Amino acid sequence: MESVWMKGSGIRKREPLPGDMEVPVVVIGAGLAGILTAYYLKQEGIRAVVLEADRIGSGQTKNTTAKITSQHNLIYSRLIRTFDCRMAEHYASANEAAIGEYERLVREKGIDCDFVRCPACLYSQTETEILKREAEAAESLGIKASFETDCELPFPVAGVTKFARQARFHPLKFLAGIADEVEVYERTKALKVEGGRVETDRGSVTAGQVVFTAHYPFINVPGYYFARMHQERSYVVALEGAERPEGMYLGIDQGGLSLRGYGGLLLLGGGSHRTGVNPVDKTGMGCGYGMLKNRAQEMYPGCSEVYRWSAQDCMTLDGLPYIGRFSTRRPYWYVATGFGKWGMTSAMVSARILTALITGRDCPEADIFSPDRAFTMQAAKGLAVHGAYTVKGLSKHLLPSGKGSVILNCPHMGCRLEWNPAEESYDCPCHGSRFDREGRLIDGPAQTDCKRREGNENERAEE
Ligand SMILES: Cc1cc2nc3c(=O)[nH]c(=O)nc-3n(C[C@H](O)[C@H](O)[C@H](O)COP(=O)(O)OP(=O)(O)OC[C@H]3O[C@@H](n4cnc5c(N)ncnc54)[C@H](O)[C@@H]3O)c2cc1C
Repeated sequence: MESVWMKGSGIRKREPLPGDMEVPVVVIGAGLAGILTAYYLKQEGIRAVVLEADRIGSGQTKNTTAKITSQHNLIYSRLIRTFDCRMAEHYASANEAAIGEYERLVREKGIDCDFVRCPACLYSQTETEILKREAEAAESLGIKASFETDCELPFPVAGVTKFARQARFHPLKFLAGIADEVEVYERTKALKVEGGRVETDRGSVTAGQVVFTAHYPFINVPGYYFARMHQERSYVVALEGAERPEGMYLGIDQGGLSLRGYGGLLLLGGGSHRTGVNPVDKTGMGCGYGMLKNRAQEMYPGCSEVYRWSAQDCMTLDGLPYIGRFSTRRPYWYVATGFGKWGMTSAMVSARILTALITGRDCPEADIFSPDRAFTMQAAKGLAVHGAYTVKGLSKHLLPSGKGSVILNCPHMGCRLEWNPAEESYDCPCHGSRFDREGRLIDGPAQTDCKRREGNENERAEE
């Protein structure tokens, strides 16, 4: 199912890697994070080539809702509590600066990508105190934030936390404008990385520095990102005949929705769940697309759905991205991942931080994003939950493929796959890899199709 962004993005096709080469920096993955990183390195006079397994923007970037905001759910009161004001300030200022940087690039390059400044709001139908606290916390860190009780949503709210001067845009049109200045090789998949040598299916690239922006780092050791992240899937519908708010909204209550306008359409999102764990309907409104359809008709009777799509993002143990050195054991490897569904500003923050690290420039804001940052109580809880899913998922299991042969476990780390009826895919609850009905790879960290062997549906192993 195609997202609203995929029609006519204007992204130019590129050739695959022509053969072996040697460059100062190689970037793996041409989503927003990879393209922006290579772009800023080029501004510093450093040649960086980007290797892309498929097409530019063909990963999660094509399926986002593209709110460019420093409002990342209820983050600031928590950051002040768990880290300190200085670290929280760094998170706030890096993300606010990212919005400004998007605006500067769009203006200076004349990129026609429907960039609009607008407020971003968190809403609740029951809570006011948490929203007030979040507005105060954000304001204390330099963000223009306020608590309000009035808003433009078609249902009553107890209050909203409003951040002024945030933004929205068309992510692929923006990417097309920036990628035009970047050296990218498409249909070139990184298969193995050893030291500074990246082996692909088209040849190898040897580089002084290697940047992993493949969404989920597919190298397990060192770094151990598989133990520090899971993936979460959410659903989006684009509606015609529904009122479009000027601002962008996200509900903080259970079952809260995401809303933003695009052209004549309203983009309505929600139904989040851990990838590979099918959600249970607790509200009687259904799950995934069904829930969104019911909620849409309730709020905007007679509206119609013109697009639907879903996507997933990497969620870290403490809810902050991992941006910086990949591992102390590989000081010339860098990573940007774990954006927690806030990848628009996080991709820009990644590009700025990684460029500073690679060029040896001082970057005080890098501390809060570092993969080596302090391990908090929240991270410890996250690790326990993630560990439990992984142990369960690792129990051997065979799945019917529907064609008289069976798909074996996930090729990434051998976890048990679950059937996702909403997307008709086999999904891994441990790390979020996804495969079609025939076991062909859809989403990583797995990098290969599932192995299959002859068998039948009755052969499903005991759990
Ligand atoms: C439903 C949903 C809504 C969202 N809405 C928002 C929003 O409103 N605002 C916001 O800020 N964020 C949002 N996000 C998050 C945001 O979309 C992502 O964080 C962001 O797009 C990730 O970009 P990326 O460049 O890291 O990854 P990707 O766009 O996935 O790029 C990674 C690229 O690497 C390539 N790749 C993978 N493996 C290899 C390999 N071995 N060799 C070469 N290439 C490889 C892939 O093909 C892909 O093109 C949302 C996420 C979801 C799930």
